[in-house]
Amino acid sequence: MKDIPLLRHSVIAFLLAAFAPAGAAEKPGTLRILTSFYPVYIHALNVAGNMPGVEVANMAQPSAGCLHDYSITPGDLVRISNADVFVVNGGGMESFMDKAMKHAPGIRVLDLSEGIPMLRENNVVNPHVWLSVSNAIVQVRNLADGLSRIDPARAAAFRANAEQYADKLRALDARMRSGLSDLRTRDIVTFHEAFPYFARAYGLNIAAAIAREPGSEPSARELAGTVEIIRKAGVKAIFAEPQYSSRAAQVIARETGATVFALDPAVTGPPEPGAFIRIMEENLRELQKALK
Ligand SMILES: [Zn+2]
Repeated sequence: MKDIPLLRHSVIAFLLAAFAPAGAAEKPGTLRILTSFYPVYIHALNVAGNMPGVEVANMAQPSAGCLHDYSITPGDLVRISNADVFVVNGGGMESFMDKAMKHAPGIRVLDLSEGIPMLRENNVVNPHVWLSVSNAIVQVRNLADGLSRIDPARAAAFRANAEQYADKLRALDARMRSGLSDLRTRDIVTFHEAFPYFARAYGLNIAAAIAREPGSEPSARELAGTVEIIRKAGVKAIFAEPQYSSRAAQVIARETGATVFALDPAVTGPPEPGAFIRIMEENLRELQKALK
């Protein structure tokens, strides 16, 4: 009697296999794109969002911010395994890639920073390339090229979407350049090491960064060192980031008489294709307020 349930199971399994339409387990032709974090996700919404048969999802929570020291979860690893392509910023931002590749060795990875000259500090690559809008354009094109290789049937649509968005980004870049061409001072102090590409693109000078990475509160000695640099350089504007506590910035402002403004590295925000451009325009207004 014991083998009857087993028999029943195999009969059911046989019936399911025989009558299931071919490929029913996966929607045929669906391309599942998973991005690592917010800026990459916004690129992908512009290149592949709202296309029939294409799913765009983001791995990290919208509140995660930069992925430095991100602890990848078992759920993240499952989502990476189930995606057709995992789109990453590169430059070391996704520090968990070794673990992810071990878990999902067959996964196709698109590194959007390919071909972008990377800045280094103390021999460590700085991954915040997207904050130079011309680099963001390269990332968008890399994404369209990569997706076109994976899904040639949709290549024309990916490339057309990318060029449409690149036009908007080029116009933004021009507004940033002209809006920041005429400033009283070009010296700024930023909160974490997110802005070297931005500063280089728009001719700003980062006199100091208050904390090297978000979440690491500067020590009393580091704070004192930053205060010294700001006093010597006569820096009047400190830029905190909306994602992180501005406590250290407030302490430094009190010590130096400098004013705290906000500069957004565009690592959190609403899931909307126009969000990156809006954040950068807000950054432009804030810089003009602080430095004109
Ligand atoms: Zn960062």
